[in-house]
Amino acid sequence: MPFSLHGIGVSRGYAIGRTYLLQRNQPEITEYTIPDNIVEDEVQRFLNSLEIARRQLQDIRMRVPPTAPGDAAAFIDAHLLMLQDAMFTEAPIHLIRDRHCNAEWALKIQRDLLIEIFEQMDDPYLRTRKDDIDHVVRRVQRVLVTEDPAYLSDPDYADLASSRLEGRVIVADDMTPADTILMQHQGVQAFVTEYGGPLSHTAILARSLGIPAVVGVRNARGYLGHDEPVIVDGRQGVILIGLDERILRYYRHKQREERRQQRELSKLKGKPAITRDEVTIGLYANIELPEDATAVRDVMADGVGLYRTEFLFMNRADAPDEEEHLASYLHVIKTLEGSPITIRTADLGADKQVDGGRGGPVTTNPALGLRAIRMCLKDLGMFRPQLRAILRASAHGPVRMMIPMLSNIHEVFQVLRLVDETKQELRERGLAFDERLPIGGMIEVPAAAVCAAQFARYMDFLSIGTNDLIQYTLAIDRVDDEVNYLFDPLHPAVLTLIHHTIRSGQKAGIPVSLCGEMAGDSRYTRLLLGLGLTEFSMHPTGLLEIKKVIQDSHVGELKEIARRLLRTTDIEKYAEILKDIAQN
Ligand code: PEP
Ligand code: MG
Repeated sequence: MPFSLHGIGVSRGYAIGRTYLLQRNQPEITEYTIPDNIVEDEVQRFLNSLEIARRQLQDIRMRVPPTAPGDAAAFIDAHLLMLQDAMFTEAPIHLIRDRHCNAEWALKIQRDLLIEIFEQMDDPYLRTRKDDIDHVVRRVQRVLVTEDPAYLSDPDYADLASSRLEGRVIVADDMTPADTILMQHQGVQAFVTEYGGPLSHTAILARSLGIPAVVGVRNARGYLGHDEPVIVDGRQGVILIGLDERILRYYRHKQREERRQQRELSKLKGKPAITRDEVTIGLYANIELPEDATAVRDVMADGVGLYRTEFLFMNRADAPDEEEHLASYLHVIKTLEGSPITIRTADLGADKQVDGGRGGPVTTNPALGLRAIRMCLKDLGMFRPQLRAILRASAHGPVRMMIPMLSNIHEVFQVLRLVDETKQELRERGLAFDERLPIGGMIEVPAAAVCAAQFARYMDFLSIGTNDLIQYTLAIDRVDDEVNYLFDPLHPAVLTLIHHTIRSGQKAGIPVSLCGEMAGDSRYTRLLLGLGLTEFSMHPTGLLEIKKVIQDSHVGELKEIARRLLRTTDIEKYAEILKDIAQN
């Protein structure tokens, strides 16, 4: 009898294969007291475990094939850096010495403390990174419990490095970046995890690798047996079990169809995104890591529409300096060989304890607090090096600078003044930069969208961040599962603000792009074209599908329908017109 499990589909595609249940045998951690005379031995035992964990990760790092997506190696590097960070190397030692507790327990205390801090973070991406803390702590705890200095005793390693995964659907509680690397090129069909969301490691890496994945399938390992035939639908977030020949035939057909479509789409690389009525649309990519630029080049995007620079600030106690910023930006410039790159200044959340106490205190409402440009303007010691680096990078390629979460025009004036000061500083240092570096703003707050004309007057371009714009317009915390059902990109208020922003930019004669998740979701492409959007920025993997929809669309007709949509107050008519747009 067939039945299904449901989760969040985070990487599209259909997989048909047998399950491989990844049981991690996480050791039970208990507390015990260390006698006075051997406390230093316990400290040494802890330091040894860090060293073994480091060797394990280095070994895995060396296995990253040159063809792997940039995310993979960068995640391992982040874990290696964490193992050197005082939060792991010093804090547990103080706990062992002060409380005379065992090393495993000291790590647990430190882990709980760090997780609590991460959970209060405003930025959903950084919030998801609490998984990194867990992965690193678990690795060290396993070394401590097994007391075996050989890295091959790592059960994950032994399991995953074997070649038993060919054709398998991996089912796990959660997956570490190291897991994913060990599994690469072993013919894994799909990932299913019990935890994680669209921004988890599993999700990001699965998308980069083009492997279907469903996350957040509660108790998946309770329902699924080992070596059980299943179908994974990575688009709908469904796992089908108890398969019969009819279902198998149907999904084999869908799988073939999907592959055929992918082959067709790959022919669109390098072709222009021009609509049926000859309107040229710019298709740009969003990136998080310098290494992601390779995927942007592979898909032949028009450039980078959003480079999220928050990664540079993660897993460290201090802010990156000017040279570190610059090195990352130069890497992207070099990879993209002349395509424009929009670097967004730090969009960090309100909570700063984990990164050396920068910014303000933890507040009850971090999304409305000191985040993004507000924090940068408050912490110039952190902001100025980034400004200098972006300016210096502009001497090497077509760079643009973009400011997140503007809500008040005076923030723009402050930024422009700081940029002028920075230019003067660089001139005095004899360093080159683009005197006309374009500076744009993200429209993510309803106040900024309503006053878009004001922002357009002082900025060189605008970019609509719908992830935040929807959050703030509809008063829905974008990371709160309880209200997720209200997160509606099609809400008339959201569409009115998007339309108004685009129109304001057009009237001012400046480009307006859209770089939230909506841009990469083909269900909204025609609607956005109808609202007048001419530049989209999205995850590179979705770009060709969006291009196909654009090539099949007629902007003139869509604009006409969108006009009717924005005018109607009849809810049934609204739904009908939306359907009309989707089918046009
Ligand atoms: C957005 O808010 O739509 C956006 C692109 O920025 P981020 O998701 O990084 O907040
Ligand atoms: Mg945003």
